[in-house]
Amino acid sequence: MITPVLPSYSRAPLSFVKGEGAWMVEADGRRFLDFGAGIAVTALGHAHPALVKALTDQAGALWHTSNLYNVPQQQALAERLVEHTFADTVFMCNSGTEAGELAVKMARKYWYEKGQPERNVIVTFEGSFHGRSLGMISAAGGEKLTKGFGPLLPGFRHLPFGDMDALAEAAKAPDLAAIMVEPVQGEGGIRPLSDSALMRMREICDETGALLILDEIQCGMGRTGKLFAHEWAGISPDIMMVAKGIGGGFPLGALLATEEAALGMTPGTHGSTYGGNPLGCAVGCAVIDEITRDGFLDDVNRRAGLLRQKLEGLVAGHPDIFTGIRGQGFMLGLICKAPNLDVVKAGYDAEILTVPGGDNVVRLLPSLTITEEEIAEGIDRLDRAATALERTLQGAD
Ligand code: PLP
Repeated sequence: MITPVLPSYSRAPLSFVKGEGAWMVEADGRRFLDFGAGIAVTALGHAHPALVKALTDQAGALWHTSNLYNVPQQQALAERLVEHTFADTVFMCNSGTEAGELAVKMARKYWYEKGQPERNVIVTFEGSFHGRSLGMISAAGGEKLTKGFGPLLPGFRHLPFGDMDALAEAAKAPDLAAIMVEPVQGEGGIRPLSDSALMRMREICDETGALLILDEIQCGMGRTGKLFAHEWAGISPDIMMVAKGIGGGFPLGALLATEEAALGMTPGTHGSTYGGNPLGCAVGCAVIDEITRDGFLDDVNRRAGLLRQKLEGLVAGHPDIFTGIRGQGFMLGLICKAPNLDVVKAGYDAEILTVPGGDNVVRLLPSLTITEEEIAEGIDRLDRAATALERTLQGAD
């Protein structure tokens, strides 16, 4: 049945009217503990005072100015990103998908400018997710994303996730422009690449000249306990897609690049009406300032360790529901034995929000500011959810 809102989502019967830190209030007054943070979006929780102030101050001063002019807030955010990362230059956009589209354009333009336009193929990996535009579903591949939407865009070659032999073979192709990969697959079910695989990818790119594009839209902005996940492997990309957490809930994305990778992006090659608008960039600056504050990420790692430890107990206590945990920091996947959608639904009944992922995983992506008490409360609620689901499953036997 068609509905006023296009029915492209199958939605839970929940309507939230207020958010406070790690809590969300439903229209009927129930208080849900938010272990999803949107989907890794509200990195600093709901209604963080510094973010509310940045947004409302900016809203009172100037909402919009065209990119025909300098945008001081955009300049300030770009400077912060350059200061804290490998990047020399940044393009601001409004979503992760847009960052991905520019990543592909940039990589192709790079080889065009180098006089090798035939180097236009981007290698990507099965199970990945890069967004919902035609370009990004073509990039990720997979029937779930692409069925019915053909013809897809050419110029992507899909390899099994983490298959380094297949990658070494694919890297011999003379048309290779870039490798595009999530250091930790999010939608795919919190599937991390090993440090050694990331290091090998960097080596392959160095050997072939191909550009390394990292999609840190879900795993970046402190989520794994480093500002960006690739830092754990001690490597850096040539191009990186960022979104979600960087806006703390305000629509904001960014494409970061080295000067070399960005060499083809001259005036007139790319643009956006809203990308880099003063509101989004003011919020983005406040988010970065908080996450890069001395000691912030140390504390994230400490609390994430606590969550991990408690989750081990939860998994051990419910062997019919869970089989393990994977991930890092506050990007964790509960590997389920029971159907993951049933676990998420049982969570709703216990008033905790989690997010299903591929590979029968339930994603736990709480805000980076979640407290120890809230972690303990979250475990209690997950325990209640698992116990209720066990009873249902036993009843069904
Ligand atoms: N890439 C990854 C890894 C993501 O997790 C997402 C969103 O879930 C995207 C890209 C697309 O981002 P957006 O929905 O902001 O366009």
